[in-house]
Amino acid sequence: MTATTGRRRIPVIVPVLGEEEAQAAADVVRSGWVAQGPRVAEFERAFAETVGAGHGVAVSSCTTALHLALVVLGVGPGDEVVVPSLSFIATANAARYVGATPVFADVDLATGNLTPATIDAVRTARTRAVIGVHQGGVPADVDALRAACADWGVALVEDAACAAGSTVRGRPASAGALLAAWSFHPRKVITTGEGGMLTTDDPELAARLRRLREHGMNVSAAERHASAQPVLESYLETGFNYRMTDIQAAIGLVQLRKLDELVTRRRELAARYHELLADLPGLSPVRDPAYGTSNFQSFWVLLESGGRDEALAALAAVGVSARRGIMAAHLEPAYKGAGTVSLPNTERLTRDSLILPLYHDMTDAEQGYVVDVLRAAARA
Ligand SMILES: *Cc1c(COP(=O)(O)O)cnc(C)c1O
Repeated sequence: MTATTGRRRIPVIVPVLGEEEAQAAADVVRSGWVAQGPRVAEFERAFAETVGAGHGVAVSSCTTALHLALVVLGVGPGDEVVVPSLSFIATANAARYVGATPVFADVDLATGNLTPATIDAVRTARTRAVIGVHQGGVPADVDALRAACADWGVALVEDAACAAGSTVRGRPASAGALLAAWSFHPRKVITTGEGGMLTTDDPELAARLRRLREHGMNVSAAERHASAQPVLESYLETGFNYRMTDIQAAIGLVQLRKLDELVTRRRELAARYHELLADLPGLSPVRDPAYGTSNFQSFWVLLESGGRDEALAALAAVGVSARRGIMAAHLEPAYKGAGTVSLPNTERLTRDSLILPLYHDMTDAEQGYVVDVLRAAARA
């Protein structure tokens, strides 16, 4: 079969949604209660249990989860928040939402994640918090980051947007976090369309997060609705409408039951890429770090001697959707002039890496084809 005849387009990722999710959503619609209600509460309990956290607070996205995390920590104007530039831009934006200044730290070249050393290089007396990311599902060494942040008296928020199903030293990545923020966008391993979650072991933080996501109300709309007696709510502080709907949560409950299977399959496909790519010189694929396992939400390869854009073009020309590597916020117009120090690993990763297609029903032939195109591009 030639490149252009009979071969389906190869996408970069495909959400794994089926009849079960459609049925779960339809059941919620038929129930008449579609806003945040019993399915959200059930999804919060199930998700928190899966990721080894005491409490889950569902919200509208990981972006709003990160915002609320900084609000409950009391981060505000005059404070600095250390973030990796090498991340989806929402990580840095969260600091700006609370009026704080994001300060960019470099990342480890192999994992794409912050380390105590890269944070230490940019922290100041004004550093109030760090947002550590598990980039593309590659877990950060949270034990090292938590210990360093505790020493410095700085709060650590864990951006676990991509990390459902990743592990650190045998536990779910971000188990034991002060605050972790998760995403259920379709580009992640499990999805609710849009959606996010905060997890924490601290019941007081969880209670305040629940209030903040719902206009600062002391009692939820669902509780008022369920009560036989009139319940007069009051508004204890300025909150937000960051709620998830029961339709999303019902889909999420089905997705969560598939998580192990989805991660197992992604790891199988990643292992096969590692075999297929082994004889391509000058190309380093992302791997599990020594201390944990990735869910391979993103499978990136670093091209040691450049040529990334040419490789992307060669793939696109034959119907293979690849993506540039993870973006770097400090190179975007929105962060122009943000006073950035040198971030050599970040700049190298964002310039010279690309993300290869990896989706649940990807065939051996499709994977082989992607690697053949890369091999031909490397020769050219
Ligand atoms: C996707 C992503 C986000 C944003 O998630 P949303 O749910 O789309 O808001 C934040 N941080 C990282 C690292 C991400 O990959």
